[in-house]
Amino acid sequence: MKPVIGLEVHIELKTRSKMFCGCSADYFGKKPNTHTCPVCLGLPGALPVPNKKAIEWCVMLGMALNCKIPHFSKFDRKNYFYPDLPKGYQISQYDEPFCVNGSIKLSTGKKIRIRRVHMEEDTAKLVHELGNQKSTRSTSSGQEIKNQKDEGYSLIDFNRSGVPLAEIVTEPDFDDAKDVKEYLQKIQQIARYLEISNADMEKGDMRLEPNISLSKDGKLPSYKIEVKNINSFRFVEKAIEFEIRRQTEILQKGQTPIQETRGWDEAKQKTISQRTKEEASDYRYFPEPDIPPIRWAKSQISNLKSQMRELPKEKFKRFKKDYELSDYDTEILTRETTIADYFEDAVRIGKNKNIDAKKIAKFIMNRKPSIEEVLPAKLVRNIESATTYVNINEEEIKITVKKVLKNNSQAVEDFKKGKTQALQYLVGSVMRALKGKVDPRVVIEAIENELK
Ligand code: ADP
Ligand code: MG
Ligand code: ZN
Repeated sequence: MKPVIGLEVHIELKTRSKMFCGCSADYFGKKPNTHTCPVCLGLPGALPVPNKKAIEWCVMLGMALNCKIPHFSKFDRKNYFYPDLPKGYQISQYDEPFCVNGSIKLSTGKKIRIRRVHMEEDTAKLVHELGNQKSTRSTSSGQEIKNQKDEGYSLIDFNRSGVPLAEIVTEPDFDDAKDVKEYLQKIQQIARYLEISNADMEKGDMRLEPNISLSKDGKLPSYKIEVKNINSFRFVEKAIEFEIRRQTEILQKGQTPIQETRGWDEAKQKTISQRTKEEASDYRYFPEPDIPPIRWAKSQISNLKSQMRELPKEKFKRFKKDYELSDYDTEILTRETTIADYFEDAVRIGKNKNIDAKKIAKFIMNRKPSIEEVLPAKLVRNIESATTYVNINEEEIKITVKKVLKNNSQAVEDFKKGKTQALQYLVGSVMRALKGKVDPRVVIEAIENELK
């Protein structure tokens, strides 16, 4: 039996304002319900105004994933009833998403097809308080909530409501959890390279939903299990591995797993049934009447493309070629743009001092300097003093010392009479002649040897 896995990934975009209102989208760790307005609270009559930057970033993300950008697109209402969604519907995209038919290549050469990348709004955050743990709790405003029956209660924080979310949906092209992990790392790296999201798992910037089934005959199974809202790459791997085991057992008994949505329980190390899966028809999708459809001119798309930052794949190619680095070194230096930029700054500074990129790369790889503490110029100085001992051979030092002693007979005399300043002068002269690239202690030793 072969695993069949498709992925849905939500990425929160770090635009300044929310998707359909002017509230600040920078909500993490902020006092609950302070980043709200009638639009993101879903009050009747409030009208959404789409965030241009968020749409542009969604399109850029799609282009980075090799998607086509249809010239027509629109928003739709996805209707469902849940306390985290005050309007009773989520503004999303149904049949005309911003980006379609992309792909991404894994290191094994395997190609994962990306079905679509669309734009939607995030929901509010529910905070569940369990009754038997606590019966009163102070809200951030200092108000006490009492629950006499001790049944527990839920609070809603609307700061996250309406934050822009891009959703990336793959075809069911994965057959193992390792490939899923690599794909997720690539997506995270691309989002960070484009500077459209911090893609920080712990902060919930990136949320993952694997769909898993098992195929007996190589065909797409008629059922699938969706594991919702996972916030760690490790948990996705574990959830997939667990589901493969669970579904294998069911199928071996001659049964078919029930199509449903499950959640990952890290404490119990298993997935847990949440609800039987809804159909698209349950959502009663229809076009959002308050937002006009979007029509792109070709020039707008090409303009966006030209504004896109260099992608990981391009940077990798360029580093390898321009700096003649190994695959391994290039991989490490281009993993994050902060390291890549640091390396290139050092290369620029090193150029004037004849220190080549390879040497700088090796030094960064071996010494792992702290980027915050050792600025690129300092790094280059460190490399200079660390490498010259090996490069300037003893013979060269000896010849220079001889020359300097010959041309400074007065200083030599003074030194012999015990004047330490004369030695400093001679060392300085040798250093200057060697362009300062040598350890002064080595020079002193060479002078003393010469005058023995
Ligand atoms: P839905 O309409 O229920 O959201 P979709 O067909 O749109 O289902 O697919 C959602 C995700 O599930 C996609 O990532 C897709 O690749 C994946 N998927 C579809 N069928 C299967 C299957 N049989 N097994 C595993 N994943 C699947
Ligand atoms: Mg789905
Ligand atoms: Zn708002």
